[in-house]
Parts: sequence; structure tokens; C-alpha cells
Amino acid sequence: MIAIVGAGLGGLTLARVLGMHGVETAVYDLDASPNARHQGGMLDMHEESGQMALRAAGLFADFERAVLPGGDASRVIDKHGVVLLDQPGDGRRPEVDRGALRDLLLHSLPEGTVRWGARVTAVSAAPGGYELTFADGRTETTALLVGADGAWSRVRPLLTADQPVYAGLSFVEIRVPRTRAEHPRLADVVGDGMLFALDDERGFLAHRESDDELCVYVAVKKPAEWATGGEVGRDSLLALFPDWHPDLRALVSESEGALIPRPIYALPTGQRWSRVPGVTLLGDAAHLMSPFAGEGANLAMQDAAELAQAILAHPGDVEAALGDYERAMFPRARAAAEESMRNLVDLFQPGAARRLAAFFSGATAG
Ligand SMILES: Cc1cc2nc3c(=O)[nH]c(=O)nc-3n(C[C@H](O)[C@H](O)[C@H](O)COP(=O)(O)OP(=O)(O)OC[C@H]3O[C@@H](n4cnc5c(N)ncnc54)[C@H](O)[C@@H]3O)c2cc1C
Repeated sequence: MIAIVGAGLGGLTLARVLGMHGVETAVYDLDASPNARHQGGMLDMHEESGQMALRAAGLFADFERAVLPGGDASRVIDKHGVVLLDQPGDGRRPEVDRGALRDLLLHSLPEGTVRWGARVTAVSAAPGGYELTFADGRTETTALLVGADGAWSRVRPLLTADQPVYAGLSFVEIRVPRTRAEHPRLADVVGDGMLFALDDERGFLAHRESDDELCVYVAVKKPAEWATGGEVGRDSLLALFPDWHPDLRALVSESEGALIPRPIYALPTGQRWSRVPGVTLLGDAAHLMSPFAGEGANLAMQDAAELAQAILAHPGDVEAALGDYERAMFPRARAAAEESMRNLVDLFQPGAARRLAAFFSGATAG
């Protein structure tokens, strides 16, 4: 039995593709249940990575049914509300609700594959493999261990001492529910897909979701403690945007519910490790990066599909499988991490909105 720590998009994709070919897995997740927390905003699935993985998982048709029509539209504005770009979606980067995507994968697995309420607190080498220790004191031993446990992976220290570093930028996630019905002005401002409102080295990244809710990331350059220190409220957020267009400020003042701090961390770009028998990492555990290449979830799923394929291609030779997987994964992750770092710097510098609009126009023309 292969042990996978983490039932995010990466861990679930791995379990699904292996399971389709008769390889059993146990997936351990710290969440008490599949509905323990909101899964977050929209994701666009790229053809060569996320979509490839969904095909390998036999779930592509279901995914297509879950896609938000027109959700890949892009709009770029400045702080005065001047529209610099307004582009309808062309279907090349279909957008799907993260929760719907997670449910697709979850429901494709045999009952009991995911062990909820299983927080791994320690991992150590043991005779014949690795021993996992859980928060309730239980232990499990496995010959093949995959860390799919995200940014603060408990499995990663078996392979590398690297830890995520704060990227200097924080998001605060806010939500505007029942937008069309109760906040039609905001629905119009954001449009059918993604809104980038960037200026003064800060901004609003907003997306319409399939349930008529807006997910808005308010992005500011502040110390990590600013976001997580419990001090951020709607008034203190608005104070950072005093002269921005009233419709943009209304994204904050008309939002409802909790403000969720999301300080942005990244692992060192190009991180890699020497082969350690019987254990590997995928997704954020392997290569956490800022979200500005739009690749994190896509890569996690691609890693998972390719790792599964490598395991299936080398029956009885786990080391050959893990070696093949890592050789392809390291350079792919490096390229995406470099792009996300470039974009992070670029999007939060003066003139960002104009540059982004020009980039999107060029991308379409090409
Ligand atoms: C604000 C924001 C916006 C983003 N937008 C995009 C986007 O548009 N497109 C895109 O491709 N990517 C995006 N990303 C990145 C994407 O969310 C991640 O890269 C992706 O979720 C990684 O998947 P994963 O399966 O590797 O890890 P995760 O989704 O983090 O899953 C890890 C799982 O492990 C579990 N876990 C953690 N620790 C333990 C433990 N000790 N024991 C047991 N279980 C544990 C967690 O509960 C979780 O379920 C964004 C990220 C952020 C922060």
C-alpha cells in the first residue's frame, strides 16, 4: 500500500490514477471531513498540465461539465476604474471551481481511501520504509511514501531542509455573495471572469464563481505578520485604498463573512534534492510558488499523474519510478517558479495595469 499524505488536488489525483490501474493507496489528511473548510476560488486548467492529468484520471468529460462558461474572461483596470483591457473568454483556459474539482476527484475514489482527521505530526525512517505518527498517537508504516501535504509539508524534511520564505506580499481573501441579485454594480465591475485592478503597487484580483459569489483577493505589500496578526478588518483594508474608485472600494465594504489572510510564501526557486529511497514529494510540498504563474494546482495534478504513470511503468522498481518522475518534475517546477517570481515583481510595480493589459492583448494576437 502506498501512503499519500495530503488530500489536496495533487494527492487525490495520484490516488485516482493509481487506483484505476489496481494500485492501492491510503490518503491521510488533517481535515476532519471533506467539508471542513472552503476550498477557495476558481482555477484555470492548462491543457498540458491540469487537463492532461484529468484525462489520465478518466475525468475529463466530468470536468468539462463543471467548467464555468465564459469564466476565462479577463479585465484589467486602474485605480480610477479606467478599463484598459476587456477580453471575453475563448475557452482555452477553462475555469473551474476548486471545490467542484476536488469533489470530482474525491468521488472517483473507493470509499475509505481518504482517512480524514489524520494529521501527520512526525515522519521517520523505519525498517522497510517510513513510520507516520498521527496527532492522536497512532502510527502507520509504509514502504512508499508520497508527501502531497502542501506548503508546510511534514514529509519534506526527509528530502531537504529548505523551508518556504515569505514573498513580501499578502492577500486578504474576501467574498461578496449573491452578487447579481444584491450587488449588480459589483457584478458588472468584475464581469464574467477575472478582474485585475492594479495600481500603486497593490490591487484587487477578483473572480466570479459559479454560485454567483465574488472571490476577491486584496493584495498588498506588507509584512507577513500584518496579515496573520488578527488586526486586519474592512476599515483598515479600505484605509489602504483611500483614493481608489468607489466601485473598487465597494468590493471590500459590501463583502460578507470572514477576512481570510493569505500571506504568499515560496520555496527557493529551483529547489531539488538527491534521491532518497522510498519517498518523494509533489505539488506545493515539492515546489511551493507564488500564484502569479497560475500554475500551482496545475503542476500538482501533473506531478501526480506523471508520478502514477512512472510507478505503473516500473513495477517492482520504485527507485527507477521516483527517479524518472523527479528528473522531469524539477526543471518543470523551476521554469514555473521563475515565471511566478517575475510576475509577482512585475504586477506590483508602477505601471503594472498597462503592462498586464499589453501582455494579454499580445497573448491574444499571438
Ligand atoms: C490565493 C491563491 C490563489 C491561487 N490560484 C491558483 C490558480 O489560479 N491556479 C493554480 O494552478 N494554482 C493556484 N494557486 C496554487 C494552488 O492553490 C496550489 O498550488 C495547489 O493547491 C497545490 O496543491 P497540493 O495538492 O500540492 O497542495 P494543497 O492543495 O495545499 O493540499 C495539501 C493537503 O495536505 C493536507 N495536509 C497538510 N499538512 C498535513 C499534515 N501534517 N497531515 C495530514 N494532511 C496534511 C491539507 O489539509 C491539504 O488538504 C493559488 C494559491 C493561492 C494561495
